[in-house]
Amino acid sequence: MTPEEFRKNGHAMIDWIADYRARVESFPVLSQVTPGEIMRSLPTQAPAHGESFDAILRDVETLILPGITHWQSPNFFAYFPSNSSEPAILGDLLSSGLGVQGMLWATSPACTELETRVLDWLVAMLALPNKFLSTSAGGGVIQDTASSATLCALLAARERATNYATNQQGCDRKLVAYTSTQAHSSLQKDAQIAGIGRDNLRLIEVDEDFAMRPAALSAQIEKDRRAGLTPFFVCASVGTTSSNAIDPVPAIGRICREQNIWLHVDAAMSGTAALCPEFRSIHDGVELADSYTFNPHKWMFTTFDCNCFYVADRNALIQTLTILPEYLRNQATESGAVIDYRDWQVPLGRRFRALKLWFVIRHYGIEGLQFHVRKHVSMAQEFVSWIREDDRFELAAPAPLNLVCFRHKGGDAVNQTIMDNLNRSGDLYFTHTKLDGKFTLRMCVGQTHTELRHAEQAWRRIQEEASRSAG
Ligand code: PLP
Repeated sequence: MTPEEFRKNGHAMIDWIADYRARVESFPVLSQVTPGEIMRSLPTQAPAHGESFDAILRDVETLILPGITHWQSPNFFAYFPSNSSEPAILGDLLSSGLGVQGMLWATSPACTELETRVLDWLVAMLALPNKFLSTSAGGGVIQDTASSATLCALLAARERATNYATNQQGCDRKLVAYTSTQAHSSLQKDAQIAGIGRDNLRLIEVDEDFAMRPAALSAQIEKDRRAGLTPFFVCASVGTTSSNAIDPVPAIGRICREQNIWLHVDAAMSGTAALCPEFRSIHDGVELADSYTFNPHKWMFTTFDCNCFYVADRNALIQTLTILPEYLRNQATESGAVIDYRDWQVPLGRRFRALKLWFVIRHYGIEGLQFHVRKHVSMAQEFVSWIREDDRFELAAPAPLNLVCFRHKGGDAVNQTIMDNLNRSGDLYFTHTKLDGKFTLRMCVGQTHTELRHAEQAWRRIQEEASRSAG
């Protein structure tokens, strides 16, 4: 592709994306294709000869679009959001355009230094403790996902607990990690990968609000110590995936400090709320944490993927993950004056993700980000009031921020039918969980362009469907 062709095709691509975003509400939110349908529409062999960009773009419209679930639709209320914004898209495009691989400071100093600067900004923006600043003994790094961030925390904790011997000798099956029964499934996957083993990840019971019981944590730690095991890692959740429960981090943190256990705080979606001073209490106790993570790619308008991971002691992380082959040696690294983020993550290579985050923060400013977060929380709280007013429904858990868990009182089958029929209609998309063993509907308000009229329409559709399904 010549520069002129690139310019022309690039304009066509941006036009397509702009048009897509303008008409996104016209598509069924949940893709309506059946398994294998998209595959069957694609040629079984790669083209022998190059094709025109026009032809490729035409196929995006006809072959790909039907198989898209529209995460950026304002009627998307499923899971947790993976919201996006125009500045984030452009920042991501610039990252592709520059095409740098920022494994070392030397392989693109701006890739490292912009990341450090933006992650320091976020410490202040979210009122996180200063020990996470790059100017302290700690610091922040961008990872692909919260799963990877938590894995890195688990690995660093494992090494700190075994005096950095496990990397060399392998696991001794004595290390025990703790989280609540409501923690994200990535904890289990990470325990498997880190060689801790799922049997050695204790799932601590929760209270009636689905938050970890610190007394149960203490009791389990004591029991494990008496059995000759080594408690080494606790993950507290600030906003669980099922119900947005907020674990009592101050009490959990005190236990970890007394017991010399690494405390990791997973605030994957809800951390973004701390942009607003009125929601900052969700971060109470984070000053006791050894590490903390949240995903701008969930609720902070930054196109997937972008996770921020902070540690209080960067040496523990670096000592855990560093390996220096001859071909990566360079003067900047050896001078000790630079950060090489390859030592802060599992992969060697890394994309220039800081660009999209920088674009987002500069485009919105702190006030703009706060405005949108407040709007989402306020719409979710409206939703709570509508549920309270309709005695066919009940709330299933507290709704501290932008996730509402509720159910029709008619039982599991009725709730399943309401959800399936509405999702099949394409008018909105929402998902479920199980709380106290009961099928529970979840509405998460966090899509960038969701307005009150979308939330109102969603509630109207749920009420109509309830009348049809339950009478
Ligand atoms: N932690 C929590 C609380 C989550 O809700 C999620 C995803 O929803 C994750 C971790 C995993 O996120 P990621 O996809 O970034 O690994």
